Amino acid sequence: MKALIASLLAGCLWYGAGEARATEATASFKVLKLEGNKVSWQKAVQRPGGVIHFGVVAEAMEFSGARNCRKMAPLREIVAESGLAVAAVREEIAAAFAMWQAVANITFREVADPAQADILIGAQAEPAGWAFADVFYDAQSSESVKPISKALICLNPAKRWKIGFDGDLTVYDLRYTIAHEIGHAIGLDHPNGAGQIMGYRYDEQFRRLQLGDVQGAVLIYGEREPGSAAVAAEGTVPHRNAGALGLAKRWGSRAFTARPH
Ligand SMILES: [Zn+2]
Repeated sequence: MKALIASLLAGCLWYGAGEARATEATASFKVLKLEGNKVSWQKAVQRPGGVIHFGVVAEAMEFSGARNCRKMAPLREIVAESGLAVAAVREEIAAAFAMWQAVANITFREVADPAQADILIGAQAEPAGWAFADVFYDAQSSESVKPISKALICLNPAKRWKIGFDGDLTVYDLRYTIAHEIGHAIGLDHPNGAGQIMGYRYDEQFRRLQLGDVQGAVLIYGEREPGSAAVAAEGTVPHRNAGALGLAKRWGSRAFTARPH
């Protein structure tokens, strides 16, 4: 099978510019479309014991089809500039996944081996912007919503990151940023307005999913079913052919970067 290259769909999350917040109701979520295709992990979620596995990059990895996260470096590289503990960063990642898992019928589990991960998080080997996501999907699927096969989230290790809000919009909160990128990784785009974690612009008004974020995730995956996470926890990690994953996938991407003041 031949690797296919799709166009880059760039979006950004910008610095807050201090402008007045819109108070009128706006479209509160938007489903991601890559080359006109809706995409989701639904197929993976529906398999027996279906969970989405995430992992952190432990050594240099390269993804030839990706654009934003083509070269990934170990996640630990993002802590150097920021003075954060690796364990604390991992807790923020887990918290970001937990936010989505709490509201929609999609369950995430961390795997130790990055090669087994559906969603990989790491540092950019070639720093640019703030954070990006690449979403790979099977464009040749006959299903109307194409299955996502892999997603990459990469953070700029040259930027300073923080945990929590302090009003300084030049240093991004990890949990907020990663939750936003996970939103892309599960099939959501930027809505046409502010006030959501999936909003285009970084701000520090809230640190949890907002109503539109929840509605978007529920539209794709359904509501969180009580007990489903516990059931999924019993599932085993299926063997993945990492080599095959790199091929036969069209890919799309979402950027999550900063506009200079
Ligand atoms: Zn974004």
